[in-house]
Amino acid sequence: MLISFLGLLLLVVAFTVFRTFRLTVKTPEPESCEQLPVNLDEAVQRLSRAIQFKTISRQDASLIDGEEFEKMHRFLDEAFPLVYEKLEQETVNRYSLLYRWEGKNPDLKPIMLTCHLDVVPVEPGTEEDWDHPPFQGAVTDEHIYGRGTMDVQSGVMAILEATEALLREGFEPQRTVYLGFGHDEEIDGEFGASEIGRLLKSRGIEMEFLLDEGLPVVEELIEGVKSPVALVAVAEKGYLSLELSVASEGGHSSVPQGTTSIARLGEALHRLENNPLPAKFDGLVKSTFEAIGTGMPIPFRFIFANLWLFKTPLRRFLATIPATDAAMRTTTATTIFESGMKENLIPTIARAVVNFRIHPNDSVESVIAHVKKVINDDSVKVEKLFGYIEPSPVSSITNEPYRQLARSIRQIFPEVAVAPSLMVGATDARHYTEISPNIYRFFPLRAEQSDLDRVHGTNERLSIENYGEMIQFYARVLINNTE
Ligand SMILES: [Zn+2]
Repeated sequence: MLISFLGLLLLVVAFTVFRTFRLTVKTPEPESCEQLPVNLDEAVQRLSRAIQFKTISRQDASLIDGEEFEKMHRFLDEAFPLVYEKLEQETVNRYSLLYRWEGKNPDLKPIMLTCHLDVVPVEPGTEEDWDHPPFQGAVTDEHIYGRGTMDVQSGVMAILEATEALLREGFEPQRTVYLGFGHDEEIDGEFGASEIGRLLKSRGIEMEFLLDEGLPVVEELIEGVKSPVALVAVAEKGYLSLELSVASEGGHSSVPQGTTSIARLGEALHRLENNPLPAKFDGLVKSTFEAIGTGMPIPFRFIFANLWLFKTPLRRFLATIPATDAAMRTTTATTIFESGMKENLIPTIARAVVNFRIHPNDSVESVIAHVKKVINDDSVKVEKLFGYIEPSPVSSITNEPYRQLARSIRQIFPEVAVAPSLMVGATDARHYTEISPNIYRFFPLRAEQSDLDRVHGTNERLSIENYGEMIQFYARVLINNTE
């Protein structure tokens, strides 16, 4: 009996080890490509000028300084004379920009590259913490400093630099190319990208491929992953806030009657947090790990190669890390709790707001159904707040547009693994879902974990070398995705 058990164990060990080493990177060999001639010093100077425009988005849209946007538009016209001359250009809703570069073959569907012109404000009181003032556009030996160098005027400028350089080389795309730059992405894009999307839809235009800003090239995604990973978000989570409220008798605290509204609501919230929506390892998260492949450290590869055995423990393990947990499920977070105003009065009402970031596996309605089922208490009223958004559709990772995008990434960043991923935040891309079935969110920014705090934070900066890669990357996309 013992012998046969040992035999079985050995067989299992041999099989799992065999599978571990059979797991190979499926990504093709890096392919070299010709660098497009670009004068990087001059391009850096142009980016520095762009950083100096205070195209700041503020929660109160009436505080936006329109003149700064108009000045930036005029600057772009001067900075990119061939773009100005050869592309059709229109302003949308005053401050957003839409360009059209006519392709040679009108039978092919167009492509679109998008980014945004606005930036977030600098948090008052932190101006002095910057090594160089945030709107000065300072250039050091290695970096360009300033608000917008990472998010995302560098993207707008790199796209235009690539376009200008290709025009100079006499490149003519087969497909028509649209460039769309919204002016209010940081406050949801309702007036910028959303208007551009509506306009293109009203003209009956459908894109073959749309690339928005998004996730970066992360230097060390998981501890032990040797090569950097270019994360391409193929979907974006939805957004929902639910208001939960309980009304009760109230009265004086000297003669309490039954359960108070506070306790009842507290119980409901406790149940909700203890019973989140289920996490799933299949689908996107699995594709992400699959793409990282042999770049993973051996213990991870061993587990990953043997999902037949380890899927459940792996899912449980990943759920203990907040970032991977958020990638596998709809997250639940209680953000507001209000009740009571006097220590000797029992309040008649208790109110809370719970915020959900909806995974593409779920929907607004399925989240509400889950919440009601888990709370299982009719005295708790559940209402959805304005501003909810369904999760985006999931774009394909087996079609030609994705293959070409991945190819462009590998041509410019030969050492990286390209992995599909889920965007837990939001970008302008969601305003384009009706004009393109294939939407990808990727930004050719190299970011170490510690750099990520600079986005929307202090000392936002971009290395000059990386800026050169950005320009070359967008040029590859304009070549590869228009063939
Ligand atoms: Zn952005």
